[in-house]
Amino acid sequence: MGQAVLTIENLDLEFPGFRTTAKALNGVTLFVQPGEIVGVVGESGSGKSVTAMVSMGLLPKGSYRVTRGSVQLLGHDVLGQSERQLGEVRGREAAMIFQEPMTALNPTRRIGQQLLDVIRRHQPLGKQQARAKAVELLRDMHIADPEQVLDRYPFELSGGMRQRIMIALAFSCDPQLLIADEPTTALDVTVQRQVLLLLREKARQRGTAILLITHDMALVSQFCDRMYVMYTGAIVEEGPTGQVLASPSHPYTQGLLASLPERAAPGQDLDTIRGQVPNLAHLPTGCTFKDRCAYRMPRCEQRPGLMPADSPAHLSACWLQAQEPQP
Ligand code: SF4
Repeated sequence: MGQAVLTIENLDLEFPGFRTTAKALNGVTLFVQPGEIVGVVGESGSGKSVTAMVSMGLLPKGSYRVTRGSVQLLGHDVLGQSERQLGEVRGREAAMIFQEPMTALNPTRRIGQQLLDVIRRHQPLGKQQARAKAVELLRDMHIADPEQVLDRYPFELSGGMRQRIMIALAFSCDPQLLIADEPTTALDVTVQRQVLLLLREKARQRGTAILLITHDMALVSQFCDRMYVMYTGAIVEEGPTGQVLASPSHPYTQGLLASLPERAAPGQDLDTIRGQVPNLAHLPTGCTFKDRCAYRMPRCEQRPGLMPADSPAHLSACWLQAQEPQP
């Protein structure tokens, strides 16, 4: 393995408000190696999208405060770079795919114009060469009749087709890292699978690493080499996907898995995790999952750090893993 393409270390990030401050990330440490597909999974409000946005330097300046930690994206110190420097990294070395391509594609411009803009911004190509590259990219994304698609407007295409074009845009400059934030949530299940298979195929062919942000444990299980589980802005479990899914260690991960529809017997109600995610402006002390946890014990009043579960690579932030006797 070479140097990690993304390294986040001990990151604390908050959004100051008028009366309260939401502690969105609390000691997040995460890395992505070259060519790896890594999943970050959690409920809404877990901090997974904030992690994605801060990794790319896309959080609006002045809206947040980093009180500790660092973010290194392909050797660049994201928190210390200017917007102009980050703009050069984005698109050329790292790219992002969002849930709804309509928000990323300009509805008033044809697909071809938008693809050509991105290709020519980062590569010294003439118009004809850039158009030939755009056709090649769309063909590579298994889009039939790419010449015709280049002349269409985004609204003339299906959601699945738009997302394929976003993937083509993201790959257009051969990035080393692609961050995909809920890339298929707006699509139906069959198209979702096709788009993710395409994403993985292209990433593997080009050696591109992917950080897949999702609420969907099933997607992580199918597509990711390693995974992180987030809760209240912290990593609560991490490890190789097969190990985490075969023996989930944190009660939150166990709850997420138990609530998957495919795990319920026919006619049986789905399991759900009881209680609510705590307010990030008023996080409880100690383990932030304690009010929802069936295994809560006195020690849970102290915050657990990540500790090895069944292997050194599989970690869980839960006192149930602690080897030493309970105080
Ligand atoms: Fe449950 Fe305690 Fe583990 Fe938190 S540390 S998940 S409350 S057992």
